[in-house]
Amino acid sequence: RRLQPNGTAKSICGFCSTGCGLKLHLKDGVAINATPDPDYPVNLGTACPKGWEALTPLDAADRATTPLLHGQPVDWQTAMNVFCEKMKGVLDQHGPGSAAFISTGQMMCEEMAFLGSLTKFGMGLIHGDGNTRQCMATAVTAYKESFGFDAPPFTYADFEESDVMVFIGANPCIAHPIMWQRVLRNKRQPQIIVVDPRTTETAMAATQHYAIQPKSDLTLLYGIAHLLIREGAVDTQFVSESTTGFEEFSTFVQAYTPESVAAATGLTVAQLQCFADTIRAGTPRVSFWWTMGVNQSHQATRTAQAIINLALMTGNIGKPGTGANSITGQCNAMGSRLFSNTTNLIGGHDFKNPAHRAKIAEAMGFPVERIPDQPSLAYDQILEGIESGKIKALWIIATNPSHSWINQKRFNNLLSKLDFFVVQDMYGTTETARQAHLFLPAAAWGEKDGTFINSERRIGFSRQVRRAPGQALSDFRIFRLIAHAWGLGDLFSEWTSPEAVFQILKRCTQDQPCEISGIQDYAMIEKSGGIQWPLKVTDAAAPGFATERRLFADGRFFTPDQRARFIFDPTVPPPELPDADFPLILITGRGTSAQWHTETRTAKSEVLRKLAPAELFLDIHPEDARQLNIRDMSVVMVESRRASLTMKARISPGVCQGQVFLPMHDPRVNQLTHWAVDPFSRQPNYKHCAVRVSPS
Ligand code: SF4
Repeated sequence: RRLQPNGTAKSICGFCSTGCGLKLHLKDGVAINATPDPDYPVNLGTACPKGWEALTPLDAADRATTPLLHGQPVDWQTAMNVFCEKMKGVLDQHGPGSAAFISTGQMMCEEMAFLGSLTKFGMGLIHGDGNTRQCMATAVTAYKESFGFDAPPFTYADFEESDVMVFIGANPCIAHPIMWQRVLRNKRQPQIIVVDPRTTETAMAATQHYAIQPKSDLTLLYGIAHLLIREGAVDTQFVSESTTGFEEFSTFVQAYTPESVAAATGLTVAQLQCFADTIRAGTPRVSFWWTMGVNQSHQATRTAQAIINLALMTGNIGKPGTGANSITGQCNAMGSRLFSNTTNLIGGHDFKNPAHRAKIAEAMGFPVERIPDQPSLAYDQILEGIESGKIKALWIIATNPSHSWINQKRFNNLLSKLDFFVVQDMYGTTETARQAHLFLPAAAWGEKDGTFINSERRIGFSRQVRRAPGQALSDFRIFRLIAHAWGLGDLFSEWTSPEAVFQILKRCTQDQPCEISGIQDYAMIEKSGGIQWPLKVTDAAAPGFATERRLFADGRFFTPDQRARFIFDPTVPPPELPDADFPLILITGRGTSAQWHTETRTAKSEVLRKLAPAELFLDIHPEDARQLNIRDMSVVMVESRRASLTMKARISPGVCQGQVFLPMHDPRVNQLTHWAVDPFSRQPNYKHCAVRVSPS
C-alpha cells in the first residue's frame, strides 16, 4: 500500500554543486518521497534524476548499522577506545605528521569544520585533505592568485543573461543538468562556444564547437588572447583600472601565433579567428565557464587563469551575464574550500599568518598555540607519505578513493602499509571501506541537519527528515564522540550542535570576503531560499539581499592593491604522451546524469540504474576501430602502462581519431590512469594518458 504523506519539509539536494531545493514529503515526520522545490531560486521547480531519487540510497540493504573492527561488529565504546588508542599510539611514537585524514565535499559545513578543528586544534594532526582536491583545487588556487581570494564571481542568473557562453572542458548538459536548464531559459539567443576534444551532449548544442587536441586548451587560450591583443579587441579601460600584469602578458602571448596555435590544437586559423571575433571586447555579455576538463590537468591552474585572463582583458567580469566562472562538483565543495581546515585555515585564512591564527583562536575560544603554523600536505602528498612510511595512520571520511583515485593499483597497495586505517561512511561495502581496520557507520544526507554552499556561493540548509539506521550516527555526532573519548570535551564544549557550530563559523568569517555574519540562523537561510556569501550584518539590513548577487561589480578585487592579476606560464606537454606502444589517448569523464561519481549511492536506485545501466563502454572513433579490426559492441582489451581491462567497444564519431573515452563511473577505469598532478593545485590529471586497444 502506498504511503500517503501528511506533511512536507524543504531541503537541499546532497549530490552535486548545483544545490537544488527539494520538497520532502513526510509521513508522520519521516520523508517518504522527494520532488523539486518549485520556489527555490536555484532550480525553479526542476531536478535531475538523482534529485528525484535522493531518498532511495538511504534504504539500501547494505547500509552500515554498527562499527566494525577488522570486519566484526563492535559497540561504539569499543570503537572509540580503539580509535583513540591506535591514533594516539601513532602520534606519540612518530609525531604530529604521522597521521592524516582524507575528507569529502559531501559533508555539511559544520561537520567539515568540526573534523578540521578536532584533528588539527585538538588531536594535534597537521595533515588532512579532502576529495575536493580531485575536483576543485585548481579553481581555488587560480582564483586566490588572480583575484586575491577563492571567489567564484557569478550567480546562476548569468546563465540566462549572457550573449555568449564559452564552456571549456565542461559538459553541463549531463554534469550539471539543472544549470543547463538555466542556459536553456536564456532568451537572448546566445552564442554557445564549447571547447572539448569530444562531441559531448553540450557540444552538440553549441553554435561553435572546437574539438581541440586533448590538453591543448592552454595553448588555445593563449592564442585567442594573442588575436584579441593584435586586433585591439581589449577593454583597455577595465584593464588599466582593475588589473595588473597585462603588458607582460601581452608580450608573453606574442609567441602564440595563430599558425602555431592551429598546429598545436588541431584547429584552423579561421576557427581561431571566429572564436576571437565572437568574444572580442565590445561584445555585450560574455561568460566563461569551466569544470573538470580544465581542473583535472597537468597544467590546470594556468589553464584556469588563462580563462580568467580572457574575462579580464575583455572586461567581462562583475556585470550580468559575464564572469570567469568555475562550476563546482560536489554539493559542498564550496564549503570544503572555506571551512575544512585543510590547506586553508578556516574561513579562507592562512595557517602561516600569525594574525590569522590569533583571529581564529579567538573566534573559537581556543589557545592560539593549538593552531598549527603550517598547512597540510595535499592529498597526493599524503599518499606519498604513506608510501614512504612517514604517515602511518589514515582516517577516510565519506569518500571512496579505492575507486576514484588515479592509478588505482598504486593507491590500494599503499593502504597495506598503514598501521591503522579508519573509514567512516554510510556503507561498509565500498571498495575503500572493505579494507578498513576500523569502520565507523555514518548517517547520510537527509539523516542530519547542516548547511551546504553551492557553486554560486549560496548557503542552503539541508534538513534531517529520516533517522539513521541501527547505530549509525551523523558525522557530527561521531566527531563529538571522538572529542570526548580523546579528552577534548572541554575544548569543544561549545560545539554541541550543527547550528551552534554555524554561529562559530560566522565569527571565523568576520572581515573576510566570505563573511556570513549577517546570516542570523538556519531559519533565516530557509526563509530566504538560501543566501549567497558574503552577507555582513549591514548587508542583511538592505532590501534584496537574498536575490542573486555577483562579485566584483565595482571592479575591485581582493588583492592588496584591489587589482586582478594576469598570471601565465609557458605551456608544457602532458606527462604521458602516446607513442608506438600506446598510441591512443584515453580521456575519462562523466558518462551520464543519472549516476554520481563512483555510484556508491546512486547505483542503489533501480530507477537510476535503468536510466544508466551498469555496463560501460569504451568509445572509439570509426577509423581507429576499422584500423584495429574492432566491431561495434565487440569485446576489446584496453591497456595502459599500469593495467589492462576488457570491455565492449562502442564505435562513436563523438571521439576524435587517436582518442578513446571511458566514463569515470566504471570501478576499474582508474586502474588505467596515470598518477600526475598540476604543480600548483596538486589536482590529479585524470583526462590524459596513453593506451592501446586491441580486439579481445
Ligand atoms: Fe540538482 Fe545536482 Fe541534485 Fe541533480 S544532483 S537534483 S542537479 S543538486
